[in-house]
Amino acid sequence: MNIESMEPEARAAIEAADSIAALEDLRISWLGRKGRITGVLRTLGQLPPEDRKSVGQKANSVREAVEQLLTERTDHLKRAEADVALATEKVDVTLPGRRPTLGGEHLITRVNREIAEVFLGLGYEIADGPEVELDYFNFTALNTPPGHPARSTQDTFYVEGGDDLLLRTHTSPVQIRVMKERKPPLYVISPGRVFRRDTPDPSHMPVFHQVEGFAVDKGLTFADLRGTLEFFVHQIFGEKRRTRFRPHFFAFTEPSAEIDVSCHACDGKGCRFCGQEGWLEILGAGVIDPNVLREVGFDPEEYSGIAFGCGVERIAALKYGVDDIRNFLDSDMRFLEQFWRVS
Ligand SMILES: [Zn+2]
Repeated sequence: MNIESMEPEARAAIEAADSIAALEDLRISWLGRKGRITGVLRTLGQLPPEDRKSVGQKANSVREAVEQLLTERTDHLKRAEADVALATEKVDVTLPGRRPTLGGEHLITRVNREIAEVFLGLGYEIADGPEVELDYFNFTALNTPPGHPARSTQDTFYVEGGDDLLLRTHTSPVQIRVMKERKPPLYVISPGRVFRRDTPDPSHMPVFHQVEGFAVDKGLTFADLRGTLEFFVHQIFGEKRRTRFRPHFFAFTEPSAEIDVSCHACDGKGCRFCGQEGWLEILGAGVIDPNVLREVGFDPEEYSGIAFGCGVERIAALKYGVDDIRNFLDSDMRFLEQFWRVS
């Protein structure tokens, strides 16, 4: 074997290698345990003594040269790889940024706020009350004593362990709590969650939101109630919508009425959306029954009161054209997001 020819041969092979893996193969074939240079060094003992020194020196210098060439070529390929990576992975600062998703107000929260703002503008204040309520505040004090037909046990969730504890079926008990603590004049709304044993369907939920309100003052009449609620309807649904008052029965108001708003789709002519009625029911209201005023210690000869209540989901559904109120609780972002942009 010609040692002189080894170095140029190794150099040519190393310079032609185009990957780190190919260089590793070359290192093994030249410098490995069974490599060509290792083979020369291993056979030195078989040479005539006078040749051993010079052949050994040459073999060692070829080994050093090959090591050097491998190191240089490896560095070169690594730099080239890094250059490619830099070129392909560089950040394009001219690309538009990724916009983080911003949250928005839930439609129920928003409509609740819109309703409250109308009454705050009329000088009403907001009062709060417990969701787990005493039977007395939810029914008895509202002119619905035990055994009263308006008091259907099928509608009420009772709390275990106490016959007189229940989940409030309306926010009217807040009226009683406020009236028992304070003296007229009172102008108060009570927004909040209420609970009824309803099977969920497009227009019923076992949990929903109400805003109820009442006023007690000297000389309040049904005309005040009517003016207040017509103003409310115009603020929420727009000036063009008309209202209709229908006689109704509620235990704690007399007279009582249900209030409809003219259908936005047909303007009162009757269409599929309003069930050919032309009107959509949105409020219950009435003049507070003198029995309720007496119960809280107000003299019905001196004071009179008006009261009203509406379901927030229903108002939201009618205002924004939602045909199934269960959507409000489903947390489907595709449904909820569409109301973030509407003003
Ligand atoms: Zn209609």
